[in-house]
Amino acid sequence: MSKKILVFVESKDGKLRNVSFEALTVAKQLADGGEVIAAIFGTGATEFIQDISQYGPDKVYVLEDEALSIYTTDAYVQALGQLIEEVKAEIILLGHTAIGKDLAPRVAARLGAGLISDCTGVNLENGEIVFTRPIYAGKAFQKKVFNQGKVFATLRPNNFEIQGNLVVAEVVPFQPVIKDLRTIVKEIVRKTTSGVDLSEAKVIISGGRGVKSKEGFKPLQELADVLGGAVGASRGACDAEFCDYSLQIGQTGKVVTPDLYIACGISGAIQHLAGMSNSKVIVAINKDPEAPIFQVADYGIVGDLFEVVPLLTEEFKKVLVPC
Ligand code: FAD
Repeated sequence: MSKKILVFVESKDGKLRNVSFEALTVAKQLADGGEVIAAIFGTGATEFIQDISQYGPDKVYVLEDEALSIYTTDAYVQALGQLIEEVKAEIILLGHTAIGKDLAPRVAARLGAGLISDCTGVNLENGEIVFTRPIYAGKAFQKKVFNQGKVFATLRPNNFEIQGNLVVAEVVPFQPVIKDLRTIVKEIVRKTTSGVDLSEAKVIISGGRGVKSKEGFKPLQELADVLGGAVGASRGACDAEFCDYSLQIGQTGKVVTPDLYIACGISGAIQHLAGMSNSKVIVAINKDPEAPIFQVADYGIVGDLFEVVPLLTEEFKKVLVPC
C-alpha cells in the first residue's frame, strides 16, 4: 500500500515550524515505500531546502513566486491545488495552524477531496491509515479511515515525535499560475513581538481570573522566562483585560500540547480544558481545593498563586540557572 504523500511545509519569521518536521516524520512512516514530497512556498524558499532534507523527503518542490511571499488565501489555494494535481499526491499533510486551518479545507473542497482536521494521532493499522482526532472539546477521540480518493489531514502541533532522516532530496522548482488575486498584504503589524510561540511552546504558564490584574501576570512571566516557556491565559483573564486575547487558550482560543502546563488561578471550565487537556504534564495552582482543574491535573497545589509561583521560580532558578 505505497502512497504518495505531500507535506505542506510552513515557515514563520524566517524559520520552519516544528509541526512541519512532525508532518514530515509522519509522512515518512506512512509512505511504506511510496514517495514523500515536501512543498515550500515563497521568495527565499530555497534557503530552507537543507533543513527540510534532514527529515527525509524524496523530493522538495520549491514555489518561489512573489505572490507567495506573504500568505494570502487566494494565492496559496491556487498554488497548492495546482501542485497537488501536478504531483498526483494522495495524502496531503499540513500543520493545524492558522494557515493550515485556512488552506486545507479550501483546497480539499476544490479538489473534491476529504479532510480530517486537528489529528492527534496517525497510525498504520492492518495496512490502513487510521487518523485520530479529539471530539466534544477533547472529551472523546474519533478514529477515521479513508479508503478512497485523496485525503487532507491537519496535524495538531506538538503531538508527533520528530525523527531526523538526512537524505539528498531531489529539488524541483514549480511555477504555479496565480491570477485574479483579491487580497494584497502590504504590511504585517504584530501584536506580540517577542517570546516563545504559544502554539509550539514546550512549557506554558497560564493565568486565569485568579491572577487578578495585568501586574498579576508578572510573576507568571518570570517563571516562564526561567523555564524557557510562554505565558497563556484563560478567557476569564482575557475578558477581564488582564492580557491580550492572543494568549487565550481553549475552545475559542489556541489549542496547545506542551510538555508542561502550569495553570495558575484557573478554575478549569470545560471550554478551557478543550485547549490544554492534551498537555503531557498538567500542574494546577488554585486556592480552592474543589476547583475542577484538579480533576485533570497530574499535580495539584492548593494555595495562593502569588505565594506559590515566586517560590517555584526561585527553586527552578537554583536548579536551572548556573550560579
Ligand atoms: P474563574 O472561573 O473565575 O476561576 C478563577 C479561579 O481562580 C478560581 O478557581 C479561584 O479559586 C482561583 N483563584 C482566585 N484567586 C486565586 C489565588 N490568589 N491563587 C490561586 N487561585 C486563585 N474559557 C477559556 O479559558 N478558553 C476558551 O477558549 C473559552 N471559550 C468559551 C466559549 C464559550 C462559547 C463559552 C460560553 C465560554 C468560554 N470560555 C472559555 C469561558 C469559560 O466558560 C470560563 O468562564 C473561563 O474559562 C473562566 O476563566 P477562569 O478559570 O480564569 O476564571
